[in-house]
Amino acid sequence: MNDLPATRLLLVEDELQMRRFLRTALTARQFEVIEAVNVREARLAVTAHPPEIVLLDLGLPDGDGIDFTREVRAWSLIPIIVLSARGREDDKVAALDAGADDYLTKPFGVNELLARIRVALRHAAQSAAGSSRETILTIGPLRLDPERRETRIHDQPVNLTPIEYRLLWHLARNAGRVLTHQQILKAVWGPHYTHQTHTLRVFMAQLRRKLEPDPAHPQLLMTEMGVGYRLRDDDPLPGLEG
Ligand code: CA
Repeated sequence: MNDLPATRLLLVEDELQMRRFLRTALTARQFEVIEAVNVREARLAVTAHPPEIVLLDLGLPDGDGIDFTREVRAWSLIPIIVLSARGREDDKVAALDAGADDYLTKPFGVNELLARIRVALRHAAQSAAGSSRETILTIGPLRLDPERRETRIHDQPVNLTPIEYRLLWHLARNAGRVLTHQQILKAVWGPHYTHQTHTLRVFMAQLRRKLEPDPAHPQLLMTEMGVGYRLRDDDPLPGLEG
């Protein structure tokens, strides 16, 4: 993706090797990379000269990336992508619920990182433009027409219940982003239902039966183990599995 416009990116990471790897990879793709090695520096960088996107390690020597995310979210919608260690599902959920846009599990590939950055920047641009809720959404084979309340997959109409439609609409509006169980339940069912993960699982299974050629191996409605769900975006890179 050499045609990305120069983007100011704040990299918050205390590990020297990781920082070097990311700086090299991102600078080569025309990112302007600002570095911070702890929460104190990150706080300075993010206020002194706000970046367009933040890559954030969670385990920092003087604090926690999750607290930092919450702090930034109090005054800014800068997209934040969390870099997390493998197997720390609780951390990922906490970071997303604190307002992070996405996470990557270390180790990750540069292509995957760039794809996630693109999605996060696109969502940020859409929110900034206040993109209307009532436009037709097309994501890969999926097409949602909110005015007619019509869903099509590979141009075939799909019959969805009102809840199924709301669930799919919410996932589609956030295509490419991982949403936690809590975030989905709150948005679709309401604030009193955030612990009904079983209900969510049942509805996701129904949606998959209606939309996926092989519901056991979904290509569109992806499970993020221990975290939530992601509706796959339509610009996956070759060889990149969701
Ligand atoms: Ca660390």
